[in-house]
Amino acid sequence: MFWWYFFLFILGLQLGSFINAFKYRLHIGQSVWRGRSYCPHCHHLLSGWDLIPVVSFLMLGGRCRYCRQPIGWHYPIVEIVAGVLLVLIWGFTADLFLAIFYSIVFLALLAVAEYDLKHYLISDKVLAFCLVISLSFLINQSLAANNFFVWPDSIFLSGLMAALASGLFLGAIHLLTRGRGMGFGDVKLVFIIGLIVGWPSIILAVFLSFLIGAIIGLILVASKKKRMKEVIPFGPFLVLGGLITALWGSQIINWYLSLILW
Ligand SMILES: [Zn+2]
Repeated sequence: MFWWYFFLFILGLQLGSFINAFKYRLHIGQSVWRGRSYCPHCHHLLSGWDLIPVVSFLMLGGRCRYCRQPIGWHYPIVEIVAGVLLVLIWGFTADLFLAIFYSIVFLALLAVAEYDLKHYLISDKVLAFCLVISLSFLINQSLAANNFFVWPDSIFLSGLMAALASGLFLGAIHLLTRGRGMGFGDVKLVFIIGLIVGWPSIILAVFLSFLIGAIIGLILVASKKKRMKEVIPFGPFLVLGGLITALWGSQIINWYLSLILW
């Protein structure tokens, strides 16, 4: 069991490293699939020894081997987060197909969250990828369970309902605040999260996103890292709320119900 999770963690590190390269190329508009990795500062091609997740970063003291420019902490952090993400998903998801589905979409959403943190932009390309994966999974699962049009059993209808309801809710906030409180990217993102976690779990996911966002926002303002009026991207909180709900949503809801019904 240990080696299985160890393997998942290493695989996650490697995929995280891919996310880093993907994100960078997305940003500069270069093809993701072609060409080898190079240093963004000196454009020196990187060898296999420079591309070992986390290890290379530590060995090189966080600097490029060739030009000694700092590499940036977010590279190893994204890799480690991707590793932990895979371990958590496979540790807390009982169903094999669901675990595969979560692994694909949440790794993609990790890229979305990281890009949003850095560039205040939610990538339509990655969201489109998540949309195709999510719809395929939902349609396939509800057809397999033979309940495509059966409410509330159908995972497809449940996902669609959650996507539309949460999309409308954030869409309304987007319109009411004229885009200042909530970007349209967040509206598209919550639609995807809705497809992933379904109805009524999406209510918990959105609630958790606002809660975590408010707590982090207060901490940043209190520690003077951000001023009150500064924008904090909401995408990462939506992804985090979605992930927590996907993995532990039913436990959280049962725990909450046991509190208020006692
Ligand atoms: Zn360099």
